[in-house]
Amino acid sequence: MVKNDPFANATKQVNDACDIIGIKDKELRKYLAMPNKVLRVKIPVKMDNGKIRVFTGFRSQHNNDRGPYKGGIRYFDPEGGVEYMEREVMALSSWMTWKCAIVDVPLGGGKGAIYVNPKTEKLSEGELERLTRGFAFKISEIIGPGKDIPAPDVYTTGKEMTQIMDTFSKLNGNVYSPGVITGKPISMGGSLARNVATGLGAAYTVREAAKALKISLKGAKVVLQGFGNASTFAGEYLEKMGAKIIAVSDSKGSISIPKGAKVSAILAHKEEKGSVVGFPGSTKISTEELLTTKCDVLVPGALENQIDAKIAKNLKCKIIAEAANGPTLPEADPIIYQKKILVIPDILANSGGVCISYLEWVQNNMGYYWSFDEVANKMEKNITKGFKDAYELSKKHKIDMRKATMVLAVERVLEAFDQKGIWP
Ligand code: NAD
Repeated sequence: MVKNDPFANATKQVNDACDIIGIKDKELRKYLAMPNKVLRVKIPVKMDNGKIRVFTGFRSQHNNDRGPYKGGIRYFDPEGGVEYMEREVMALSSWMTWKCAIVDVPLGGGKGAIYVNPKTEKLSEGELERLTRGFAFKISEIIGPGKDIPAPDVYTTGKEMTQIMDTFSKLNGNVYSPGVITGKPISMGGSLARNVATGLGAAYTVREAAKALKISLKGAKVVLQGFGNASTFAGEYLEKMGAKIIAVSDSKGSISIPKGAKVSAILAHKEEKGSVVGFPGSTKISTEELLTTKCDVLVPGALENQIDAKIAKNLKCKIIAEAANGPTLPEADPIIYQKKILVIPDILANSGGVCISYLEWVQNNMGYYWSFDEVANKMEKNITKGFKDAYELSKKHKIDMRKATMVLAVERVLEAFDQKGIWP
């Protein structure tokens, strides 16, 4: 048994949606909840000291009824160990299925991970490359431009994506295969706007939520949990919309900046000192204090399982934009709904990443590349429509946004499943 099992959370969300849609068939519910395949691999790596170290990696392929599997690869060492990580990738692959469906991109859900923390373990560049290429080799048979298209996630970047693309290409007769992976550097066939996509998409969803609640973003107070790709770009674009960042955190701690500070200034401090902690004019606070800071918009943009029932009771925000995957425990959802806080669930709030990943893949497949604005505008359309569809449904059925997005997504996947049927 895994504590705070993320896959149990993901399954509950599928079952909740099935209850609302009226799907009683247990086997169909199982089909929707379970991944199609979970591959667990060992990756032996020759370390710099000449010794061999064996790492564990996963790739979970949840559902491909609407298109090839799609989802990031993270390098991390969650507290629950490798068993927790397996459940985590299963959950994340499920969320990818629903995410692609809600923003209506023709892709399915996948996710991968290696149990390693490259930051705390200080792996050398060479060790990381051998690990990445070793993992690419082990999963090469189940990935491909028409099969399963990975992308970056926690502690992986365009560099690892390039190494995976290159390994895949070499294993397949040197066929140039940029469409096997997204989140690549621009020079490797990446898409403009991919780097900012998740944060920009989250900011678009906050804009739509603020419109729905008739809140102005001018001077709106924003709290960011995490200070990585998703949260910093969400912060920067919210700043451009007029909002002010008043508290942030990273793996080393949380800080409150009541007067507000520019993301760029906090980033510069983090780059110099290695953490947001110690930013001039800030006070160190606990994670709980960060999450329960009085603000307009809370962006949990780091890890899962951050908002439990206790924190939910003490939340003092109007909108939660879940830039991270699975930051809210199921027990917290009814409490948050009762408090009339509008949650933009992860599968919608952070779907900008997969929207632009999809557009990167399209560009790779056609060998023709769009400008930043063309890509960002296409993503804005998909994500805005996803928000509006879900918001309307939540009002119509008097359900929270998590349930509404899940209902829409499950219905869209079921429609494809019904068309295809089962073979053999
Ligand atoms: P990242 O590696 O760029 O940043 C992760 C951040 O989280 C870092 O600032 C790290 O210091 C911080 N962090 C780690 N442990 C923490 C803790 N205990 N408390 C507070 N902060 C902590 O990763 P990312 O790409 O920004 O991903 C963050 C979340 O967003 C993940 O849940 C990921 O699945 C999700 N997400 C990311 C993308 C994307 O395109 N980057 C897309 C969809 C979803």
